[in-house]
Amino acid sequence: MMDFKISKDANHRQEYDRKHIWHPYTSMRHPLPAYMVSRADGVYLELDDGRRLIDGMSSWWTAIHGYNHPRLNTAVAQQLSSMAHVMFGGITHEPAIALAQRLISLTAAPLQHVFFCDSGSVSVEVAIKMAIQYWFAAGKTKKQRLLTVRGGYHGDTFGAMGVCDPVNGMHQMFTGVLPQHLFAPRPKPDNGTWEDAWIAEFKELLESHRDEIAAVIVEPIVQGAGGMNIYNAEYLRQFRRLCDENEVLLIFDEIATGFGRTGRMFAYEHADVVPDIICLGKSMTGGYMTLAATLASTKVAEGISADGSGVLMHGPTFMGNPLACQVAVESIDLLLESPWEDRVNAIEQQIAKELAPCCQLPVVDNVRNIGAIGVVETRTPVNLSRIQKRFVENGVWIRPFGKLVYIMPPYIIEPEQLSTLTSAIYNVLEEWGKESD
Ligand SMILES: *Cc1c(COP(=O)(O)O)cnc(C)c1O
Repeated sequence: MMDFKISKDANHRQEYDRKHIWHPYTSMRHPLPAYMVSRADGVYLELDDGRRLIDGMSSWWTAIHGYNHPRLNTAVAQQLSSMAHVMFGGITHEPAIALAQRLISLTAAPLQHVFFCDSGSVSVEVAIKMAIQYWFAAGKTKKQRLLTVRGGYHGDTFGAMGVCDPVNGMHQMFTGVLPQHLFAPRPKPDNGTWEDAWIAEFKELLESHRDEIAAVIVEPIVQGAGGMNIYNAEYLRQFRRLCDENEVLLIFDEIATGFGRTGRMFAYEHADVVPDIICLGKSMTGGYMTLAATLASTKVAEGISADGSGVLMHGPTFMGNPLACQVAVESIDLLLESPWEDRVNAIEQQIAKELAPCCQLPVVDNVRNIGAIGVVETRTPVNLSRIQKRFVENGVWIRPFGKLVYIMPPYIIEPEQLSTLTSAIYNVLEEWGKESD
């Protein structure tokens, strides 16, 4: 037997981690410190040293009901006792069917066909594949490119990366490997107005490349990891209209925005337009495990198989994992039984009120918010390791990137806990301003 014991000393374990384990977007040579979390419960993350932090991130949009939720725990345990996993080729099961029913009834009527994926990035790959196969089956084999807007984020696999913002997504490092897609300007941050000129370049790109474009892909209303940009719903109406006029499919990536985060069940409801394909993920399992889904309209699903023999060419090993499907079913039921709209609206009001004073701080450029999302953009990029440490010392878990200090707390957060998050942001940014004087 090999001995895998590592010293119980937290420093030794953290040192092992530093030396051997990659964390998201980190260097193996100069990794930033990773905090050791030993437990998570409700809105709290508990560190190894016993400190409890109020979670402002919902573990990247996922933990909408908070951690260690008794109903979600039970759902996993019960499913585990009947089966953890079986292949999905030639086999089906209750958790997958129950989840498909919920996804189909929650989303817009035309979306009737579900493909289960292991992660958000994979669901974007599948959406792209669906769009290209749809046109292929229709005999339009040249329609293989995508049109999107700058400032987007759709995942880290190559297909998804190809439609991420070319600068943030570091396309120049992968030129030659990445498919060459088309990029219209980033949607203007919402200020309550609309000008047709804002869509002109998108329209021009779409019209001049319509024979090559399979689909437009965008994150509706909120561009997440590409820059936390909140934009006017009129853009979505324009996207839909222009796609219809030019025979191009419309894909909405609601992986971050889905399941109530922006104050509507799905962000596209702010505009009352319906996509041909939608990607869902992140909070779908309440933050318990990885699972995503791509839903398509009947037009797309049947179109792919137009000649009778066409099949959708995808089938991940862990497709429709029963544990993940069952916890997603429970998470959705929990959401629907909760007063989630009131909660998200209350969070929206409180964030707006309590982050507004940050505008006065010299290091702050602007503040914006929607639903259970609050963003403070600083004038220069934050010093991440330093600001992270100060947040932890203030009893909160907030993970900024670049110039963005943002929160998207679990929907169950109490007003006082939310105030702790917002005042930590104010205090830490105020302190930073004083240091840089
Ligand atoms: C997180 C995210 C993805 C990628 O999902 P993963 O599960 O990390 O692969 C894709 N699109 C959007 C909008 C996201 O926020």
